[in-house]
Amino acid sequence: MIPFNKPPYTGNEDQYVISAMRSPKISGDGEFSKRCQAWFEETLGCKKALLTPSCTHALEMAALLIDVQAGDEIIMPSYTFVSTANAFALRGAKIVFVDIRPDTMNIDENLIEAAITPKTKAIVPVHYAGVACEMDPIMDIAARHQLFVIEDAAQGMMATYKGRPLGSIGHMGAFSFHETKNYTSGGEGGLLIINDERFTNRAEIIREKGTNRSQFFRGMVDKYSWVDIGSSYLPCDIQAAFLWGQLEKSDDINKNRLQTWLGYYEALLPLASSGRITLPTIPDDCIHNAHMFYLKVRDLDERTRLLEHFKTSDVYAVFHYVPLHSAVAGPKFSRFHGKDRYTTNDSERLIRLPIWYGMLERERKRVIDSTLEFFA
Ligand SMILES: *Cc1c(COP(=O)(O)O)cnc(C)c1O
Repeated sequence: MIPFNKPPYTGNEDQYVISAMRSPKISGDGEFSKRCQAWFEETLGCKKALLTPSCTHALEMAALLIDVQAGDEIIMPSYTFVSTANAFALRGAKIVFVDIRPDTMNIDENLIEAAITPKTKAIVPVHYAGVACEMDPIMDIAARHQLFVIEDAAQGMMATYKGRPLGSIGHMGAFSFHETKNYTSGGEGGLLIINDERFTNRAEIIREKGTNRSQFFRGMVDKYSWVDIGSSYLPCDIQAAFLWGQLEKSDDINKNRLQTWLGYYEALLPLASSGRITLPTIPDDCIHNAHMFYLKVRDLDERTRLLEHFKTSDVYAVFHYVPLHSAVAGPKFSRFHGKDRYTTNDSERLIRLPIWYGMLERERKRVIDSTLEFFA
């Protein structure tokens, strides 16, 4: 059978994990955490990189850092993972969804401005499938209305927009190292990057249970104490050690995924040309990271039949997000601004094909053959 995903694994993780396990400090911000964080600061060109237990936690930290208050409004797409909304709803914010663009499944930058009210505090663009949102217009709107931009770059590691790494363009960016993402820190993990220096000090405090322990470790204060609200947002060093084994091979992982992605794209292009399916669009100024290979069929009914067909050929393809505004918690915490032209319609047509680091050509071929067979 062809699984949907295999967690990335390079073989180098073992030695680093054992070395972390035997070190005198296996809690947060140990040697491997420092190594990973320095690597991200260099690679992403951000002011500060802080590993977190998950992207969910990174987003929660961002919500605390921009001081979201009850009644504040946060603009984002409805076609996203629950954590994008939850991190802000937890602080009492109202989530305001706007429609997506069908070509990239990203928030439609042209619909954001009309959704802004005096209560709007931030915009949260989600870089779906590691393909960038239109960040220039989004940053321009945010500047004109004095809003914060928190990039949900959970899927966007190693992808760029006009040459700039995703996550490094807004005030902050959040990444995921869950086993389904391109790089993992052993199943669960995340990263908050800070691009606006105003947030750096407080980010360290919030992450360390509201204490100035980070400053204490750097010898900046004599003892550490409770200075602000906060929580426990540090992963242990063993997770960072696992991740380090992948960061060293980050180019390999990226190239390998892109090769699989391109193999799918070329093989399925005839189906797209004849109008049977729609393939993803990668805008000219975006370099993606092959986080996902998806295609869109005619409608929900055809998708259900295609998923059934895949099952009979032992191929595990999956659909993706059910839009948050139509989920059970949707009406309680959110509203949809404007018309839902594409969010529901296009999410119902989308199927993600199996893709992972190290997927064999013959495995890809089986998925392609099964797809072609369905449409034959
Ligand atoms: C995976 C994902 C998250 C959550 O990441 P975790 O590390 O599992 O918390 C958030 N947003 C998006 C868009 C994601 O794809």
